[in-house]
Amino acid sequence: MTLLLDGKALANQIQTQLAQEIHALTEQGYRPPGLAVVMVGDNPASAAYVRNKERACSRVGIASYGKHLPATATQAEVAALLQQLNADPNVDGILVQLPLPEHLDAVALLNTIDPDKDADGLHPINLGRLVRGEPGLRSCTPYGVMRLLESANINLVGANALVVGRSILVGKPMALMLIEANATVTLAHSHTVDLPALMRQADILVAAVGRPGMITAADVKPDSVVIDVGINRVEQPDGTARLVGDVDYASVQPVAGAITPVPGGVGPMTVAMLLENTVTSYRSRL
Ligand code: NDP
Repeated sequence: MTLLLDGKALANQIQTQLAQEIHALTEQGYRPPGLAVVMVGDNPASAAYVRNKERACSRVGIASYGKHLPATATQAEVAALLQQLNADPNVDGILVQLPLPEHLDAVALLNTIDPDKDADGLHPINLGRLVRGEPGLRSCTPYGVMRLLESANINLVGANALVVGRSILVGKPMALMLIEANATVTLAHSHTVDLPALMRQADILVAAVGRPGMITAADVKPDSVVIDVGINRVEQPDGTARLVGDVDYASVQPVAGAITPVPGGVGPMTVAMLLENTVTSYRSRL
């Protein structure tokens, strides 16, 4: 029997716990936690992600201090807004929705965020803390994967873990978190030689590439744990779009010991960890 790693159910459970904690504190007269999602321009996909995050905040009782700037906003204007949010005592988490318009230097802006309000866990200080194994706000997607593995009691100690994809958003922090959990980690990318052979040896396989269905049953070690971070929009013959992962779920599910679905696996956990990071930052500020 393959274990379904149900990220949606775990994310709901985490959000219920956060909501109860926030409710108890606001009942005692404390202010609610606050998250500011900063969006620049009108990218429709970004707007949908921002709405999704703000709805999740409102479900658990986090106040949204989101700001929407026009696509013409200058580097100095966005930086000034981030400085203002850094100084705002009601704001515990700040997140810049990516991608930013091309004329803006995204890295410089992300570095402007106060590391202790860095809800996405992507600031160099927080990535440095992760490298050193120090406490700090963790990158939401890989942190969500770790929580999913932990809740299913999956043994990581000494396990052969393979992370496919080395982005700063997912792959690299994922590899670091697995190292921290005492797995033996290999990080693969587009220049990796004989990826299928590496995948067949992996006890834990994390796919974070962005190529629909690239991992099939023949690539997967029987009874291994398969985590599909990929989210790919695939056009159907009837013109509608469907979300699929990097893993060919239908063929891999019978072979794997445990697997995340797409949607309903890692995606909801990413949002839950964003809320949790905001509440962690809030607790330390109370
Ligand atoms: P990036 O495009 O930044 O990184 C993709 C990585 O995959 C790169 O490191 C690239 O290698 C590697 N890669 C590309 N082709 C191959 C190949 N043929 N074999 C091995 N490695 C390859 O993507 P992200 O990390 O931002 O996102 C990855 C996927 O995860 C996307 O589908 C994205 O939508 C999804 N995602 C999902 C989230 C969630 O909440 N579930 C959150 C964030 C992302 P190289 O470095 O050599 O170019």
